[in-house]
Amino acid sequence: MTLHFPFQNSYAALPANFFARVAPTPVATPRLIKLNRALAVQLGLDPDLLASPEGTEILAGKRLPDGADPIAMAYAGHQFGHFVPQLGDGRAILLGEVIDQDGLRRDIQLKGSGPTPFSRRGDGRAALGPVLREYIVSEAMFALGIPTTRSLAAVTSGERVQRETMLPGAVLTRVASSHIRVGTFQFFAARGDTDGVRQLADHVIARHYPDVANADRPYHALLAGVVARQADLVARWLLVGFIHGVMNTDNCSIAGETIDYGPCAFMDDYNPAQVFSSIDEMGRYAYANQPRIALWNLTRLAECLLPLLSDDNDKAIEQAQAILGEFAEQFSAAYPAGLRRKIGLFTARDGDEALVQDLLDAMAKNQADFTITFRRLSDAAGDGAGDTARDQFTDPAAFDEWAARWRRRLAEEPQSAGERQAAMRAVNPAFIPRNHRVEAVIQAAMNNDDYAPFEELLTVLAKPFEDQPVYASYMEPPLPEQRVLQTFCGT
Ligand code: AMP
Ligand code: MG
Repeated sequence: MTLHFPFQNSYAALPANFFARVAPTPVATPRLIKLNRALAVQLGLDPDLLASPEGTEILAGKRLPDGADPIAMAYAGHQFGHFVPQLGDGRAILLGEVIDQDGLRRDIQLKGSGPTPFSRRGDGRAALGPVLREYIVSEAMFALGIPTTRSLAAVTSGERVQRETMLPGAVLTRVASSHIRVGTFQFFAARGDTDGVRQLADHVIARHYPDVANADRPYHALLAGVVARQADLVARWLLVGFIHGVMNTDNCSIAGETIDYGPCAFMDDYNPAQVFSSIDEMGRYAYANQPRIALWNLTRLAECLLPLLSDDNDKAIEQAQAILGEFAEQFSAAYPAGLRRKIGLFTARDGDEALVQDLLDAMAKNQADFTITFRRLSDAAGDGAGDTARDQFTDPAAFDEWAARWRRRLAEEPQSAGERQAAMRAVNPAFIPRNHRVEAVIQAAMNNDDYAPFEELLTVLAKPFEDQPVYASYMEPPLPEQRVLQTFCGT
């Protein structure tokens, strides 16, 4: 029996300048490291066949499945604020699209599958470490309920790739609602190709925003839709302590999914100025800057759409500004509401925002672990267990003072303590992919060909809101010597 992918490609039917047709470059000796069986089933693929030697060759780009029409997508992008008119998939190849079991169209893409016409000076390959990191963090984000691309498989290639040192090569199979980015619009806009912008916008509306097709002004509604999804996404990132690390416009998904896990990380201690990425020397993509950057990226999208909004450029700008203005409203609804839920407030009162902000300020001042503090608050809010969150604070009295105010406020809430605890535990994860754990997984894989730590970490992160007492050590922050200070793009 041969492995059949039920492709129904739509992007490859767009005009030829949207992409380059290119096949993956075969690798030496592919070995399957991980297959996401549940996701395979969701995509209508047979996991046993995918795990077979033939399936592994497909996942490594060594063999093409029937019906594949492999392409590298064209896009542009602002990288750290500087515009690059042509980027494109330099090391990724879209095998095709399938309709999943919920009727949703999903891209299946190989990342690290060899050079394309967009590779510039790159080798088209990926190293094992970044592939494992993307696999772990994207699947953790999914389990946290945050929109994200998924990971279907990881294979090693049997080849080495040259980075600062020689590293084992790997290929990730990534699944996304689509790989269309803000930078995809910029590619056409930068060339003055308004027809291209319009065709792309129509494709995006049909695919991701079908509701806006019937709006009075569909392109305005499209921009509003992307703004709303990005505002919601960034709020969700902040609420779990996630730092994307490279929020370039080419890494900003039109569908509103978290995409391109490079030097991303979750913070341990709460520090709004936290940056991990080794290439982000100015702190442009620091934790607390992320909403501002998302709006900056959306402004670049709006500029691309101007010719579609109105024939009168001044009017188009005015209308675009009004829509971009909705970002602040959306974000400042989603983020504070999320914070209120994190401290167990399910009604809104004056003073709530100040109460949460005072907690965050105290956490920052006292190096409190973001995840542990909120998880322990959940327990404290329930059965009246002791305030174990206090030992997260270098000065526990700072917490005590805040907790007294918090308890007075909780007393005004309608929920029972049990209801409150359950609700808080459902928004305050116990387990996040802590950097030192991700690093340890990568080291075990690279140095000892040992994937047991990888499997165990994936197991833990699949249920982030459950206590999982046997894995309690995964809740702990790094010891001083385990601290990861920088993450690397690893391109
Ligand atoms: P990223 O930093 O992964 O978002 O990539 C930015 C751009 O560089 C994209 O156009 C990538 O396709 C390209 N790129 C990154 N790494 C490589 C590589 N090893 N070979 C070819 N292109 C690459
Ligand atoms: Mg990218």
